[in-house]
Amino acid sequence: MPSPLLQGSVGVIGAGTMGIGIAQVAASAGHDVMLFDVNAEASSRALSALHQRLQQRVDAGKADADFTQQLLARIQIATALTELASCTLVIEAIAERLEIKQSLFRDLEAICSPQTLFASNTSSLSITAIASALKHPQRMAGLHFFNPAPVMKLVEIVRGLETDADTLNALRELAVAWKKQPVVCRSTPGFIVNRVARPFYAETLRALEEQIATPATLDAVLRDAGGFAMGPLQLTDLIGHDVNYAVTESVFYAFGSDPRFQPSLVQKELVEAGHLGRKSGRGFYRYRSDIQPVPPEFAPTETGAMPQRISAHGRWSALPEFAALLQQNGIAIEELKESTESSPFLRLDEVTLMLTNGKLSSQVAAETRTPVVQFDLSVNHQQASAIAISAASCNSAAQTALVIRFLQSLGKNVIVLPDYPALLTLRTVAMLCNEALDVVNKGIASAKDTDLAMRLGVNYPAGPLAWGNQLGWQHILTTLENLNHFYADTRYRPAPLLRQLAAGYVSLATQEPH
Ligand code: NAD
Repeated sequence: MPSPLLQGSVGVIGAGTMGIGIAQVAASAGHDVMLFDVNAEASSRALSALHQRLQQRVDAGKADADFTQQLLARIQIATALTELASCTLVIEAIAERLEIKQSLFRDLEAICSPQTLFASNTSSLSITAIASALKHPQRMAGLHFFNPAPVMKLVEIVRGLETDADTLNALRELAVAWKKQPVVCRSTPGFIVNRVARPFYAETLRALEEQIATPATLDAVLRDAGGFAMGPLQLTDLIGHDVNYAVTESVFYAFGSDPRFQPSLVQKELVEAGHLGRKSGRGFYRYRSDIQPVPPEFAPTETGAMPQRISAHGRWSALPEFAALLQQNGIAIEELKESTESSPFLRLDEVTLMLTNGKLSSQVAAETRTPVVQFDLSVNHQQASAIAISAASCNSAAQTALVIRFLQSLGKNVIVLPDYPALLTLRTVAMLCNEALDVVNKGIASAKDTDLAMRLGVNYPAGPLAWGNQLGWQHILTTLENLNHFYADTRYRPAPLLRQLAAGYVSLATQEPH
């Protein structure tokens, strides 16, 4: 039997950024919506702004006039909470303060029927703690929409300790009816997305702090070479450093000050200076029309010799698009029997060009007594416009130039970073995998939901787990172990499930990476 939620009226509390978006989603799916805000003006302001936005879409021929009119007619402003008595679902999107949310749900429980379901759109508070204010916490869950709610497909459905299965199932069914992609997770700090995404920002912030390259170059490594839609620094400029820093800090403290989530001092200083990003006109970048954006630093075009002997070895199925790129350029791949498990590498004359593994290039060169250049990971080396590399300090300038010339001949902009272990995309992806595996190992969410959440919630080019599966868990483990050794702190400690996967004791069902 379909859940009564599918037809019932929906109460939305809080008419701010998220509340009005959620009201639009519910009304667009045919529900009558009661919108309540403590500040009556906020409700009417939000509703008239919505009228305006939707009318512009109608005028531009992007939305149907009748549908839009019906949608808007379904949203009523409530002037008292008691007007929400007959709602079958009430979603709260008010200030992010535990005691305010608890007090609201206490009031609602006295007003609504015992069958009404309650949901909170909180980003960082514990659903278990919010629901503890209720006499019947079984009927409460998190319904975490992403901003802008009408556009973003992902909804995290968050199970508090007492949330019952009927509540979860009804909300999941409703999310699908609202054309959203639900993922289910347990109530833990940051849920899935805001937790697993922390290393995406943290690793680049660390590289910036360690003076590895300029913000524009670091962003280009993850964006143009790695395949992410935006670099972490430009993204945090967009999100706002106050907001991004607060999320990191809240996850850090919630995990007992675990160094994995250590907030960045570089970012803290921006917040202290009031350089909050785009909204204040300045963050890592300047946003003034009279200031030219600083471009990333690419290696100048090499005009020296091309390598005479080129061969490719190792397990190139870990990097299928790079393998395709080599084959397209007439370079055959020799899957040597004895090296089927080894990481992919090329020999360009006497120089080894290999996928980074968390060791310094100089260390690999000393161990192998060959000149070494390491390249960084990409979600798709064939499509990426750039590739990031680092060279061993013992290489001659001509040996490194030979590699740059070769990579430029494949059509790539080459970003030469200092000798930095695991470069930037690999260390970021290894840490994303580590976090995602911790989520799976602790039963917070399934592997499939974790990957879906990262693809749809923060637009990653591949789910971290599918990406790790393709690259090979041993390579991820080796990378983290090498970083752990290099830094001698516990930030890079491998998750227990990673060790089991790398040893082949267990396997993980994931989708194709992309
Ligand atoms: P907002 O500041 O834009 O809006 C909050 C609204 O709630 C305001 O209009 C305020 O008047 C009203 N309000 C405050 N206390 C109230 C109360 N006791 N009763 C009724 N109304 C009350 O906030 P927002 O950005 O829309 O965030 C709302 C919630 O959604 C927060 O819990 C936040 O963590 C979460 N969230 C925000 C985002 C985002 O990107 N902004 C994304 C996901 C989740």
